[in-house]
Amino acid sequence: MAGCYRADLGDVDEPFFDAFTIVTRHPTGEGEGAVPYLPDSFFAFTSLSTVCNIRRFDAIWFAHFSRNQRIQGCPNTYTAKPQNYFHITGAEASADQREGASLYDADWTYVYNTDIARDCNGTTGGCSPTKLRNIRQMVAAHEFAELFQVNECVPWPDKYHDDRNAWCGERGGDCTYQHPEPEPEPGYSTEWCLMRVYTPPPIQDMDMRADGINRLDAYDLRMGDPLCGDGRGAIRRRRDPQ
Ligand SMILES: [Zn+2]
Repeated sequence: MAGCYRADLGDVDEPFFDAFTIVTRHPTGEGEGAVPYLPDSFFAFTSLSTVCNIRRFDAIWFAHFSRNQRIQGCPNTYTAKPQNYFHITGAEASADQREGASLYDADWTYVYNTDIARDCNGTTGGCSPTKLRNIRQMVAAHEFAELFQVNECVPWPDKYHDDRNAWCGERGGDCTYQHPEPEPEPGYSTEWCLMRVYTPPPIQDMDMRADGINRLDAYDLRMGDPLCGDGRGAIRRRRDPQ
């Protein structure tokens, strides 16, 4: 559809398959139409009142939203009842220039096209259509992992993120990568976990976002956040809510 952005779920299975979790698009394509135009300023995640507005918008727009608990300090808003539907929206840009944003207790994710293109230009050798597609897919996968609240005991601003390597990203693992552009050259042999990101990102972070390898680490998949110590913060240990 002209003038609309689609979030790219093309490779979203890669990290979640490792957790024995399957991500599928709605079989009938339900809800894949356009959404109303909203200015960049609508998406300013550092402002509480803006997040309240996004919560209200999604509660109205999202067919599978059902009210759970009233949210204090955010008039006329509710958390979502836990279920197996996530609401993902492709969009142009956010006011705070992030590639994506998610809120686990509302089940929504936004993926921002312009912010992704900017970061793609910062990769070694510059952007390419393949890298752009890879970053879009990486952002969708990364944001989904936030909806599973991986690494949930880490304090803000690192909550739901971690600085470990991917489970296959230790030296000698099979997540090794060579820069393909402008011509093959040495890359790196330690792939970071999908949830390791830096703001602002150094070039190696940009390169990893664009390399087409999207893997979580063993803590986010199975063992749980070491700071929790009880298995919380791992996708595989979450109970199916339905
Ligand atoms: Zn994140």
